[in-house]
Amino acid sequence: MVQSINTKALLTLASVVRRPFLAAPHVHVQTISEVNFQSMRDYCGIKAVIFDKDNTLTAPYATEIHDDAALGLKNALDVFGHDNIAILSNSAGTKDDKDYEDAIKIERDMGINVIRHDEKKPGGLEEVLQHFANHGVESPSQICMVGDRLLTDIVFGNLFGMLTVHCMPLCSGSDNKADNKVASMIRTMENNLLYHSKLGTLVMKKRIPHAVWQGEETCSLVYHHDANEEGNGKEPLEPLKQ
Ligand SMILES: [Mg+2]
Repeated sequence: MVQSINTKALLTLASVVRRPFLAAPHVHVQTISEVNFQSMRDYCGIKAVIFDKDNTLTAPYATEIHDDAALGLKNALDVFGHDNIAILSNSAGTKDDKDYEDAIKIERDMGINVIRHDEKKPGGLEEVLQHFANHGVESPSQICMVGDRLLTDIVFGNLFGMLTVHCMPLCSGSDNKADNKVASMIRTMENNLLYHSKLGTLVMKKRIPHAVWQGEETCSLVYHHDANEEGNGKEPLEPLKQ
C-alpha cells in the first residue's frame, strides 16, 4: 500500500509554523515499552490510548507487533483493556487501505481495533471520539495519543488537548527499508529540530499544558529502570477519583 499525500498535514504545517509548540510532546520515550500506563490512568485522567502503527507498534507496513514495542502494548492493554485501546494510522484504516484489508488483518493478527477514518492525522478527531463514546471517554483530554511523528501524531493530539507521547522510530537503516522515504526524511528533520536545536529547546519549554498532567517532575510517565525498581523517592500520588 502506498500512502497518498497528506493534505491535512500540509495545511497544518502553516499552523505549526505560527505555533511550533503544537509539535512539542508532553512525554518523550525511546519506545512505548518505557511508558507508565498505570500512572497515566490513575493520576492523569486518561481513559483511552490511541497508537500510531508504523514505527510505533510495528515495522512500517507490517501487521505484527515489533519486539521492542510488545511490552508497552501489553502494559497498555492490561491497564486500559481492549475497548479503550485503538490504532489510528495514516495507512491502515484510511482510504489508502483498499477494502480496509490491512485494518482487518491487523485486528486479526494483533487483536487491536483499527479506527476507520477518511481524513488523515491531524484530522480524524470525530472518528476517534465516536470510537470511544461508549467506553467512558467524554473529552479529548481523556485520551493519550502515542506516535513517532511530531507533525502528524503529536500535532493531532495537541490540537485537541490530548496527552501526547512521542517515541523514536522502531526501525532504522535496512530494517526501515519499507518506510515511506519522504516521511522518513521529514521525521528525521522534525526530530533534529525539536531535540537538537536551540529553537527546539525553546519550543519544548512552551508546550501546551495538559488538563490534568502537571509534568514529568510531578507525575513521571516514563519508566526509569532504577527508579522503577526501587521507587523514585517521591511521595506516592493520590489516585484520581474516576
Ligand atoms: Mg508512524
